[in-house]
Amino acid sequence: MFPLSGKTALVTGASRGIGRAIAVGLAGAGARVAVHYSASAQAAKETVAAIESEGGAAFTVQADLAEPGAADALIDALAIELGGDPLDILVNNAGVNAYGGIGGVSEADYDRAFAVNTKSLFFVTRRALELIPDGGRIVNIGSGVTRIAFPEGIAYAMTKGAVDAFTLALAAELGPRGITVNTVAPGIIDTDINASWLRGNAEAQAAAAARAALGRVGLPEDVTGPVLFLASEAGRWTTGQVIDATGGSDL
Ligand code: NAP
Repeated sequence: MFPLSGKTALVTGASRGIGRAIAVGLAGAGARVAVHYSASAQAAKETVAAIESEGGAAFTVQADLAEPGAADALIDALAIELGGDPLDILVNNAGVNAYGGIGGVSEADYDRAFAVNTKSLFFVTRRALELIPDGGRIVNIGSGVTRIAFPEGIAYAMTKGAVDAFTLALAAELGPRGITVNTVAPGIIDTDINASWLRGNAEAQAAAAARAALGRVGLPEDVTGPVLFLASEAGRWTTGQVIDATGGSDL
């Protein structure tokens, strides 16, 4: 529906969860995909294998985005892989949670969440812009928690508020180059990030499903469609926006 043949994409955090689904979706639309991972080398290889088994093209790139300088290392490695080809689509997806209310978040968890969810997104994008041509696409994975209060993960929500602000400002700066910048904001999705409280807990699953107008917990693949639209030619006139992908949570 949203062809991407001839395009190259980088998806951060594509070893698992939402990032994997986005990587598979982009490759299914014809893009060559750089599958970024941090610790899950085997899972990243499985993402590549899933793409190749469907006839797509993908390769892995590694960087621990909690570490200073990781954005440089990631984009330097990617540039070598691309060998002078442009990076048409950047999906900033890698992220970690930081559970706890204002009294319950450790300083270490706060710093880690901001390092991975916010700081790395800023510096990866800055370096990636050296490779992104006019007309390119940047999609940031935010969260419904910037619309819906999430006191049990207040620091996490703050990291995603910064993502929305980044999207808005960068869209204004890059508009003259025809580069669009948008946030896709998922609701509760069944991935490892929620495993500790959601997996195997029927009560939590039912409560999470009841929050969505569409009446179920989201799946990683539910987030792929909006990203494909934004990454494609069809998304050329949408920029600076937060696209809700929460299944209508807390309407
Ligand atoms: P996930 O299944 O836990 O996957 C997280 C991904 O981020 C993995 O690929 C992981 O790579 C990568 N990552 C984690 N720490 C990293 C680090 N230090 N450096 C580089 N990469 C790192 O989580 P998910 O649910 O798919 O989340 C993906 C994005 O969606 C995040 O930005 C999250 O905040 C957002 N989101 C999720 C939900 C939800 O309910 N699931 C809702 C709203 C927004 P490795 O496996 O290699 O460590």
